[in-house]
Amino acid sequence: MIVYEFKVKGAQIQYRRIDEAIRTAQFVRNKCLRYWMDNRGVSRAILYRYNTQLRTEFPFVESLNSHACQASVERCWSAIARFYDNCKKQVPGQKGVEPRDDDSPKGRRTKRGYPRFKKHSRSLEYKTSGWKLSEDRKRITFTDGKEIGKLKLIGSRDLNFYQLSQIKRVRLVKRADGYYCQFCIQVDVTIESTPTQKVVGIDLGLNYFIADSQGNSEPAPQFYRKAEKQLSRANRKKSKKYRKGALPQSRNYHKARNRYARKHLRVSRQREEYCKRLAYSAIQSHDLVAYEDLNVKGLVRNRHLAKSISDAGWSTFRKWLEYFGRKYGKATVAVPPHYTSQNCSNCGQVVKKSLSVRTHICSHCGYVADRDVNAALNILQRGLTTVGHTGSLYAWGDLPSSSVGESLLGYGES
Ligand SMILES: [Zn+2]
Repeated sequence: MIVYEFKVKGAQIQYRRIDEAIRTAQFVRNKCLRYWMDNRGVSRAILYRYNTQLRTEFPFVESLNSHACQASVERCWSAIARFYDNCKKQVPGQKGVEPRDDDSPKGRRTKRGYPRFKKHSRSLEYKTSGWKLSEDRKRITFTDGKEIGKLKLIGSRDLNFYQLSQIKRVRLVKRADGYYCQFCIQVDVTIESTPTQKVVGIDLGLNYFIADSQGNSEPAPQFYRKAEKQLSRANRKKSKKYRKGALPQSRNYHKARNRYARKHLRVSRQREEYCKRLAYSAIQSHDLVAYEDLNVKGLVRNRHLAKSISDAGWSTFRKWLEYFGRKYGKATVAVPPHYTSQNCSNCGQVVKKSLSVRTHICSHCGYVADRDVNAALNILQRGLTTVGHTGSLYAWGDLPSSSVGESLLGYGES
């Protein structure tokens, strides 16, 4: 599954109708979630049936394409399934009490990823109906009851290269700087790439962004740090215009809010591009890439490191690594991160060292290497021994194709 994205151009009224369609999809999702919370244990099939009932009950739901409604049910279901999954796996760092109802404090509900209601959805998904591409495939028309109509597609990608039947999903996404349309295209064969006979282990670090087992390292980009001044300035301006208790907020407030959001968008795009490029080259030049299975959320809770870690964009990097791995038929392996930096990659003995010690010097076999290179070598060894174990192997078609696309929504959409 590959994803092509275009910016769309239309009239103001069309944008308002997209907003309305997104709200409807959100309504369906939240309704289904509520239904599941009230009737624990209901199956996906029952949620589908409930969706049909919603369509007869509410005309504004009826007017949204029926498959788009179904896609909303599926989104709700994937949140529920993820929650069940986390409970079963006892996700580390997320242990906690069984959440109470939705009126409990925010933090408690999120334990183990308890599904939450969406308040500000920014996207909507159509399947294979409810839209039509123009002859030259430079325009798309949405044909359902939401009357979004014809939108111009702006972007450098060429949709003519693919069969219409390969387009499995069409998404409309709202961002701070406009509206976008994504096409999820099914590509059955993984693209042939010549085997390189090379394997690599990657260590995610703070002093470097990544260091690999061949001794190469890539400096941390720190986009956020660089943009920080501008961001906080924009944030201050926004706060000044916020009127407590005044609803709705002024036009100037919303303008300032949008300016702030655009700046964030810019930073996240820079990071996205950077990670994408790194991941692409790692996949292109190796047959197997091993990396640490880090619980980034757990790590970010350490306040002193938080900013650098989030900024490093590890999870973004990993997402693209797995994406390109699937696309080019390469193996990507996430290995448990324990002691990767403490063990000696040469003899396997434990060599204790604090975070500030940058060089690994083994007192048992005399092996000397950079700390991160040693860790990357350990990761690679672990990766090579786990290939074939389904538990930790994220290779080929393990994940449902829809989850790939969903994670590529990016830019803050969960
Ligand atoms: Zn040693």
